[in-house]
Amino acid sequence: MKPAICLGIETTAHTFGVGIVAQDGKILADVKDSFTTGSGGMIPHEVAEHHVKVCDAVLAKALSDAGIGMSDIRLISFSQSPGIGPCLKIGATVARLLSHLHGIPLIGVNHCIAHLEIARLLTPAKDPVLLYASGANTQIIAFEEGKYRIFGETLDQGIGNLLDSFARHIGLGFPGGPKVEQLALKAREQDAPLIELPYVVKGMDLSFGGILTNIARKWDSGAFTKEGLCFSLQETVFAMLVEVSERAMAHTGKIELAIGGGVGCNKRLQEMCRLMCEARGAQFFAPPNTVLIDNGVMIAWLGLLQYNAGERMAIADAIIKPYLRTDEIEVRWR
Ligand code: AMP
Ligand code: MG
Repeated sequence: MKPAICLGIETTAHTFGVGIVAQDGKILADVKDSFTTGSGGMIPHEVAEHHVKVCDAVLAKALSDAGIGMSDIRLISFSQSPGIGPCLKIGATVARLLSHLHGIPLIGVNHCIAHLEIARLLTPAKDPVLLYASGANTQIIAFEEGKYRIFGETLDQGIGNLLDSFARHIGLGFPGGPKVEQLALKAREQDAPLIELPYVVKGMDLSFGGILTNIARKWDSGAFTKEGLCFSLQETVFAMLVEVSERAMAHTGKIELAIGGGVGCNKRLQEMCRLMCEARGAQFFAPPNTVLIDNGVMIAWLGLLQYNAGERMAIADAIIKPYLRTDEIEVRWR
């Protein structure tokens, strides 16, 4: 029997999210609670503790928003890879528990692929290159020869991590990306000049570590404003992302670009992607912010795709895979 409604649990990093999605792609609930700080960063065991604290309330609200009970759920999916071990463990544990208690099948999904699949569900994109720009991940992904291949990626930290680290360095809290965006906008409105920063694209890959060191030193020197540095940081690193995305499109011959990940909420990044696509006669698609940031909806949707393609998972196999890569996933649903 095919499942009618799937409950997806997201816990790869800072967000505990529960999404409830029906077979036809209708979103019945999207509830999330994210770990934040006033000034410090993300410490894995503190984030995991946050997830434990909020999981009951998030689950209850999702079911109530959907107007259903656990007995209406036919499938449970959870983010199995990749992510922060202690955080992933909470999601996998909740999924196993619910599966066991209610006798509902469960399935583990890859978070990066979920971002691409939710873009295919919620935008007209059919076979896009995905620019996945999040806190911990930065990958340019596309479907080729039966798998989701990584055409370019960060060699060190994720782009969001870079924005958050710089934000922390200049005294903004976590998450820093939105605050950097606001400051950058101010500088842009005042026609601030671009401050030169390292531009690090190596082949199809990207590196952000040296840029962070460089810009932190510039701030420490006292010679530059917050606004000017945030603006220049965005212009530089977003250009790097767009360059590699464009080359992935040229290489694969694909004519659609979709965006995923929390940094994808950034309006300037979206604008740069759109301009690049227009220049090459391609189309750019940005799904709603609610699924760009981490969410249970995309986990539920990918769970349905996998289950309907015949995939099954025993409770004993519902273990986390923090380091599993996008291109290691067997894709049966396309
Ligand atoms: P994710 O890991 O996909 O949930 O995304 C979280 C990351 O997205 C964090 O590093 C945030 O700082 C970043 N982020 C969220 N909103 C924005 C924004 N408007 N501009 C830049 N980065 C953002
Ligand atoms: Mg994400």
